[in-house]
Amino acid sequence: MAQGEFALIDWIKVRSRQGAHVLRGIGDDCAVIRPTPGRDMLVTTDMLMDGRHFHLHQAGPEAVGYKALGVNLSDIAAMAGVPKSATVAVALPRENTEAIAHGLHTGMMRLASEYEVALIGGDTNAWDGPLVISITVLGETTESGPVLRSGARPGDVICVTGPLGGSLAGRHLNPLPRIREALTLHSVTPIQAMIDISDGLASDLGHILEESGNLGALIEESRIPIHSDVQLVMRNDGVSRWDHALTDGEDFELCVILDPTDYQRLAGDPTFGPILIQVGRIESEPGLRLRQSDRVVRPYHARGFNHLCV
Ligand code: ADP
Ligand code: MG
Repeated sequence: MAQGEFALIDWIKVRSRQGAHVLRGIGDDCAVIRPTPGRDMLVTTDMLMDGRHFHLHQAGPEAVGYKALGVNLSDIAAMAGVPKSATVAVALPRENTEAIAHGLHTGMMRLASEYEVALIGGDTNAWDGPLVISITVLGETTESGPVLRSGARPGDVICVTGPLGGSLAGRHLNPLPRIREALTLHSVTPIQAMIDISDGLASDLGHILEESGNLGALIEESRIPIHSDVQLVMRNDGVSRWDHALTDGEDFELCVILDPTDYQRLAGDPTFGPILIQVGRIESEPGLRLRQSDRVVRPYHARGFNHLCV
């Protein structure tokens, strides 16, 4: 890999997006980027490991590269931010090293081009272990500022931007980061709190409740949008469609917390109505509760299903 490393970096360099904010990209000891005056920077990192977050032999390197950047962009979307730059660190397996590296890059660039993200650097290693890829994305807030997890208040409306569950059937490899949806929404309304759904709505909404001062929530089972993929992952194991929707994870939709007045104003709008699916309300009593079809409200305990390889 020693000699190949530099050839590979050259290969990557000529195929990478730059941007007006990049004063020095790939090829120096550090990248130099110029932030937009008056904007705050957002920084997020996610690491994906073969056998844990994907299976390289099944998914192929392009899908892995796409997913690795996609999960980071989803975090930027969850802050209503604009992604600007990315760095990528890889531990490549010794077999098929270059083909894997090329595939990763091709998959990443599909998303980088679509969202105008500059690839400004990284680190390349090969070893006797499985593929590991870690991407860091730098983004910026808009003039409306970042949306945190901590701003939910009792009475606020809980929305999700799309159907949930069953991502393990294949969708988890193809996240569609809700960057544009978050930005357009934030340009027309304050958003009290937001998170991207990576571990399942039950768990991720739990982070909002905790960060917002140990609040609670009531979810209406009948309102949960269940993805058609759920039927592909259903087993006869007593796990209901709603459990799948609430806990499967890797949906990469957003959970959006809005003031009820703002929600009412936007719900009938043809642009925002379809991406604001109300599933419940924030409440002052701590804990997550589910109102089921018999109208009885019961505490909901997530079954702790966790991504892949379980
Ligand atoms: P250094 O020894 O200073 O860390 P490297 O030889 O690791 O430099 O990297 C040379 C340049 O290539 C740096 O700009 C680095 O950010 C970039 N780079 C290395 N690996 C990658 C990669 N996989 N993708 C993008 N840029 C990379
Ligand atoms: Mg290096």
